[in-house]
Amino acid sequence: MIKVDQAVCIGCGTCVALCPKTFEINADGKSTVISQNEVECAKNAAASCPVQCIAVE
Ligand code: SF4
Repeated sequence: MIKVDQAVCIGCGTCVALCPKTFEINADGKSTVISQNEVECAKNAAASCPVQCIAVE
């Protein structure tokens, strides 16, 4: 399960750049998960998130 803690996300766009099929910046400027299909990419994005608000369980 890929999750983003939107209270912590700063909307930097790194996760979207790395995994555009998995993350999207929503109307509030926060990352939102649009697909659970690319877990390995999401793990990579989680490692690159500057505020560590992506969880892959
Ligand atoms: S990389 Fe982290 S802080 Fe940046 S948009 Fe994605 S979830 Fe938010």
